[in-house]
Amino acid sequence: MNFYSLNNANNQASFREAVIAGIAPDKGLYFPERISPLADAFFNNIESFSNHEIAFKAIHQFVSDDIPDAVLKEIIENVLDFDFPVVELEENVATLELFHGPTMAFKDVGARFMANCLGYFSRGEHTEVTVLVATSGDTGGAVANGFLGVDGVNVVILYPSGKVSDIQEKQLTTLGQNIVAIEVNGTFDDCQSMVKTAFLDTDITNQKKLTSANSINIARWLPQLFYFLFAYKQTKTKGKEIIFSVPSGNFGNICAGMVAQKLGMPVKHFIAATNANAVVPKFMENGTYNPIPSVATISNAMDVGDPSNFIRIRHLYQDNFAKLKENLSSFSFADDTTRAAMKAIHSESGYVTDPHGAVGYLGLKKYQKSNSDTYGIFLETAHPVKFLDVVEDTLGLSPELPPQIQKVMGKEKKSIKINTYEGLKSYLLDS
Ligand SMILES: *Cc1c(COP(=O)(O)O)cnc(C)c1O
Repeated sequence: MNFYSLNNANNQASFREAVIAGIAPDKGLYFPERISPLADAFFNNIESFSNHEIAFKAIHQFVSDDIPDAVLKEIIENVLDFDFPVVELEENVATLELFHGPTMAFKDVGARFMANCLGYFSRGEHTEVTVLVATSGDTGGAVANGFLGVDGVNVVILYPSGKVSDIQEKQLTTLGQNIVAIEVNGTFDDCQSMVKTAFLDTDITNQKKLTSANSINIARWLPQLFYFLFAYKQTKTKGKEIIFSVPSGNFGNICAGMVAQKLGMPVKHFIAATNANAVVPKFMENGTYNPIPSVATISNAMDVGDPSNFIRIRHLYQDNFAKLKENLSSFSFADDTTRAAMKAIHSESGYVTDPHGAVGYLGLKKYQKSNSDTYGIFLETAHPVKFLDVVEDTLGLSPELPPQIQKVMGKEKKSIKINTYEGLKSYLLDS
């Protein structure tokens, strides 16, 4: 299967080419040329398949030209070695826990899948690939962990000094080997703009093969559709129509859910829940897309002012606003509402949510007010310990550090400090 650029459908690439390039030469995002529905029997019998079998069937059509079946099976086994439980909190309200992976945020699956694909494509190649990525927190750890020890791939992660949590910093600065952390004296936006400048700098690209590891890369974006199938497998016997509420920032996760629906999975409706960064909720009100600079919130992994994957969602609906509205609602919630929800959930069911999951919960409840006859699943995208300050401050309790977090906390931080783009450039040219 080919993937075409959303800027010009004539610009096409194979899966392999699109993964290595990240973005099309015309700067468009890649999109699959077809999404062929899976057999009804697959969905009717989904509970009889293992997660590995489900993932294989779901992603096969997109990657099979470039990855042989036996290798794909191996990749899926490497990537999916933890659980994705659905936990019911109230009648018709459940959460899908996506935080049981090595860095305890949902980005582990996409990052590991991409790392495995790139590792496979790099076998026998003479030039190494450099993955350059800016992080506001969770992406860095997931990418570092996913790519650790992958031959032929070097990873350079830029993060804003003093603006990520201790846990997040340890996760991205302590691994060593092929992972390098660059600590930027600036904001996340500065990190991101340095990465963009490097991709356009021919002094660098003449010497090094660069790619990105955020959700614009199809190998990071597409495998996220597995989550929705795993949730469906666990809840289809509830006998109600299923709705998903997805805490959204760059809208990669929810867009992957919509691809699962295109594959034939029965879903009544999607809800994109956001924090105060409300570009998409406003778009869903009036059909005007108006990107604005992001504002800081307690759910900081969703502080995005121009969500990069929303264009893929619009494309899925051929830019037909009425059709999109039938399948998607989007609501924005302020931090005080989110804190109140964390408290309410905790006092009613004893469950501790992180601030992102709580935003998802709020979106779900809002939609169910006028659609009560549905079974609602909100995605819990990170373990509460990853946002320890907010959880402690809001709920007055300290969740215990899980073993995979304890392991990194004792390790020594190593980073290269830079102030300007020139610092990044000389590092890339000299390494
Ligand atoms: C990245 C992230 C999100 C947002 O996901 P998108 O795919 O960018 O919409 C939500 N919650 C957490 C915890 C994240 O790390």
